[in-house]
Parts: sequence; structure tokens; C-alpha cells
Amino acid sequence: CAAAALVVRHRMKSSGKWTRAMAILREFEEKCRTPTSKLRQVADAMDVEMHAGLASEGGSKLKMIISYVDNLPTGDEKGLYYALDLGGTNFRVLRVQLGGKDARVVKQEFEEVSIPPHLMTGTSDALFGYIAEALAKFVAEEGEGFHPAPGRQRELGFTFSFPVRQTSIASGNLIKWTKGFSIEDTVGQDVVGELTKAMERIGLDMRVAALVNDTIGTLAGGKYHNQDVIAAVILGTGTNAAYVERAHAIPKWHGLLPKSGEMVINMEWGNFRSSHLPLTDYDQELDNESLNPGEQIFEKMISGMYLGDIVRRVLYKMAEEAAFFGDTVPPKLKIPFILRTPNMSAMHHDTSPDLRVVGDKLRDILEIPNTSLKVRKVVVELCDIVATRGARLSAAGIVGILKKIGRDTVREGEKQRSVIALDGGLYEHYTKFSTCMESTLKELLGEEVAANILIEHSNDGSGIGAALLAASHSQYSEVEES
Ligand code: BGC
Ligand code: MG
Repeated sequence: CAAAALVVRHRMKSSGKWTRAMAILREFEEKCRTPTSKLRQVADAMDVEMHAGLASEGGSKLKMIISYVDNLPTGDEKGLYYALDLGGTNFRVLRVQLGGKDARVVKQEFEEVSIPPHLMTGTSDALFGYIAEALAKFVAEEGEGFHPAPGRQRELGFTFSFPVRQTSIASGNLIKWTKGFSIEDTVGQDVVGELTKAMERIGLDMRVAALVNDTIGTLAGGKYHNQDVIAAVILGTGTNAAYVERAHAIPKWHGLLPKSGEMVINMEWGNFRSSHLPLTDYDQELDNESLNPGEQIFEKMISGMYLGDIVRRVLYKMAEEAAFFGDTVPPKLKIPFILRTPNMSAMHHDTSPDLRVVGDKLRDILEIPNTSLKVRKVVVELCDIVATRGARLSAAGIVGILKKIGRDTVREGEKQRSVIALDGGLYEHYTKFSTCMESTLKELLGEEVAANILIEHSNDGSGIGAALLAASHSQYSEVEES
């Protein structure tokens, strides 16, 4: 074929390696493209899967978990409550003194404890034992300004940011681990039971009053500050969304219709999958080699745990097949997850003329010294491709939710504000990601609709949210009401 021969000759002439590296980059870029039309298909598919997941248990990749939260905080919540937030690499313990309508949060204190990595893949007893110990220590430091009600057991909201099949507001069985956790013997267990056993083992007298996903906590915390909040999205180590659904739009719910007529749904959108997703060979490989192959595909294209590793995989390919970093492949480039998303973000935001930050990161993390400006520019471009795809896909996900609840259009004479509470390190710290996500939302919704949709950063709302839900589901709250 004459055309092919021409191409080959051209390649040989122009310095072959660089051209080959650029070809790898351009091919990846092409596969990652998310034109508006494609994002609309993703949003539509999300809407369709939401319906399917609500129709029947197991009806969709989207689990659409019923949270048993049918009332969000009002501001009247009162008393001392604890919260425990387990989700990523850290967990947090929190206590808050709630003062009711006018006083609101009278005082709060929290502590962040990092989880030793070996506990993330060890045994259930070890993990929950460690958490209970940290909680007990924190409770023991309860000081001035906090007022436990005399003769009452302390109560806790437990934010557990993994897929759980809830069986009540304060119980639920772990469906599977995500985000680098993998502890066989917890799967299928009631995580409240696991925590309660661990607390009993060390003599900590505390009752879990609410078990919530971080999206549910964020929704509750967001609503406490702004009554227009209708959904919450987490963009952090993992990703997920929750929203307020009309109870009669949930065919699989066979319980009593809640008085409010509403039910909060934990979508577990990280597990969303669709033929419209721009998946590449690199994504496929990342998935194959992950702790949970075949699962959490949307999450693996979007969230903080994975973005840096996608970049690493493309760089590896460019190094191996096109000598992008010289004649040998830098050994560090082979190590999964060595390039973390915060480092990717730092490179992506580098504004120095010689891209010094990029050079430093390549040297310090990947042990690639003396990179040229030309090479550094390519690395920045690669970060941009990966972050842009993730950000645009998350915007499409949000549009899917708005479609499902009919807030993606402006109805005649209606100017209803919809606020979405956002949290997570990726959203908070990766500016180019969040900016792109927000501008894509406008692109997809159009000016007029977008004017009524607000994104609000809910700074660690999930902890407070869990405490608020513990308050409204307290074993003593019935007594108080009558
Ligand atoms: C989990 C969700 C969680 C999300 C954000 C995902 O991996 O499955 O339950 O809400 O991460 O933390
Ligand atoms: Mg969190």
C-alpha cells in the first residue's frame, strides 16, 4: 500500500523516537476524548441505570442503595454526639455539641488518625480493633464545653465509605471493599456489629445510632447549612454520589412509605459502567491488575486513587516503546501507584517557565534526572488529558442525576435552586479538575439551567452529617419528642 509506505519513510526521517512517543500520546488523547455528544450519552446512560437500580435489587451496576435516611437534619438537633469517618487512608473521630435551632454547632473537636497500610488488607478484628482504640482514646479526652446527658449512653454516627447493603439506619452488611481495602472476613458482615464487638472488647460504652456512607453524611451536613441541597458528590480517593429521591419512585422499596415521602439513595456510582465510557487499554490494564478487577470502572477513570497511576502507565509505555526518557526504562516507572494524584496535580499546575516542579517530581519520585523542557511539557499535557477526562465524566454523572430528578431543565415560571454538596480531596485540592468539572456542567446544562444549579464545597460535612443523623436517630429522641 503506497500510502503506508510513505508514512513509514516519513517516520524514519524525522527523529523516530520522539515521533513514536507523540503517536502514543496522540492515540491516548484520541481515545480519551469526551465531546459534548459523548457526555450526553453518559448522562443518559446514568439516568437509565438509576431507574434500573431502583426498580429491582441487582437490576443494575448501580446499586442505588436505600439509606434508611428519610429525614435530613433540620437544625433542631441537640446534645453531644460522636462521629467516626472511615473511608480513605485516614479516619477521623469527631465530637460535636449541638445546640438546636439557634445555637447549632456549639462546639466541635476532631482528630485525624492515619490507618497503617497493613490494616487495610489484614483482618476485620485488627482493623475495627484499631479504630475502636483510637475512638476510646478520643472519648477519654472529652473536656470542657461538651455535655453528655447524665445516665445516657454516648451515641455515634458511623460514616463508612464503602458499599453497604443497609438493613436499617444503624446496620448494614459490607458488599465489597473498594479503594485499596481488601479484608476478606469483613465482606458480608454487619459493619456496625464489627465495630460494636470491637468497642465491647475494650470496654467502650457507645452505641452506633446511624450507619451512613460519606455521600449521605455530606448530604446531611450540606442540608444542615443550606436547605436547597439535593445531592452530594464525593471526588476523593474514591467517588460516589447520593441524592434525595421520591419514595414512590423506588419500586424495590417494599417498606412503609416514609412520612416525608422521600428517601436518600446512595448510588455507588463508582461502579457505573457503560459502552459510552472512553475506556483505553491503559484503563483496562489498571483494572486487570487492581484489587477489584471488573469493579468500580467509573471510579477508576475519575478518582484520586487512580488518576496518577493512569499517567504513570502511559509514561511507561512511552518509555518502553519510544525511549521517551532515554535508552533505558526508568525502573521506578514500573511501580504501581508510585505516582500519586497529588503529585500529578502539582505537575499539572506548574506555572514556572522551565516547568521546574515537573522536573523535580520526575527526579524525586521516578528518579528520572535532567528532563528537557520539551519532555516536561508532554508530561503536563498527559496530566491534562487524564484529569480532563475524569472531570468531564464526573460532570456527566451529575447531569445524569439532575435528569433523573427532573432538574436538568427550567420549567415554565419555576426558578428552583438546586445545590449539590461536593467534598473530597480531588475536588478540594486539584483546582484544574474542579474548574473543568464545573465548566463542563455549564456546557452540558446550558446557561439558563446552570444558573440555578449550585456547587457548594461541604468541608468535611460527612462527619458532622453523621453526628446529626445520630442525633435524629438517637435511642432517646422519641422520649424527648413526647
Ligand atoms: C465507595 C463509596 C464511597 C466513595 C467515596 C467508593 O469507593 O464505594 O461507598 O462513597 O468511594 O468515598
Ligand atoms: Mg472522606
